[in-house]
Amino acid sequence: MGEWYFVEFSKKRAELVARLKVRGVSEKVLRAMTNVPRHLFVPSVHMSSAYVDTPLNIGHGQTISAPHMVAIMCDLLDLQEGHKVLEVGAGSGYNAAVMAELIGNTGIVYSTERIPELVGSSKNNIKAAGYRNIEVFLSDGSIGLPEHAPYDRICVTASAPSIPQPLVQQLKTGGRMVIPVGDMFQSLYLVTRDSDGTVVTKEWGGVVFVPLIGKHGFHFEQKPYRHH
Ligand code: SAM
Repeated sequence: MGEWYFVEFSKKRAELVARLKVRGVSEKVLRAMTNVPRHLFVPSVHMSSAYVDTPLNIGHGQTISAPHMVAIMCDLLDLQEGHKVLEVGAGSGYNAAVMAELIGNTGIVYSTERIPELVGSSKNNIKAAGYRNIEVFLSDGSIGLPEHAPYDRICVTASAPSIPQPLVQQLKTGGRMVIPVGDMFQSLYLVTRDSDGTVVTKEWGGVVFVPLIGKHGFHFEQKPYRHH
């Protein structure tokens, strides 16, 4: 792609970030989203829509979440330099890249994905965008990723039937997790493990995500309402 495209994409990205600012997104998340080239994380057929605030199809019945949803989750997580983060649902790799910006080179994002083709494409996207602090695994993220636990932060990007206990157990003391829960009606939850070990769950509000499929997620035979 030539210089003209680069300039146009940068302009569109700045316009998107300005719209997210009006919605109250924090300065640090806005900065991270300014740095991540979302057009490198969508299939070429959707490149011209990369900076529209909407989810887009990434194949295999899955989506890259809308930018405002990524921003809301990152703000709820309050990501800091050096954090060790678990993502459940790598998809395109975009959300992982935004989190990788926020935690810097001293931090790391471990991202799980259950669809082999999306593991391949997310790894390619992440490489093309130049991120080295993200590792993608082909695995059922509903059981977490015990080999790298515990985590400062956990970001679940697919909707679970209920909060999977292995994920809560893999949170550090003082850790935070965001997770959508529900089938036909979904809500986003912020789960915190306080310094005394108490787990507190707060409902943020209604959202729409693809289903979490796995041992502690939905099962294929359950046919979740929004199985797309
Ligand atoms: N974070 C993604 C991005 O930035 O593009 C958005 C992902 S999409 C909304 C949700 C993803 O979760 C899908 O790619 C889906 O295959 C994946 N998923 C569903 N169940 C999963 C599981 N048990 N473990 C890992 N990934 C899962």
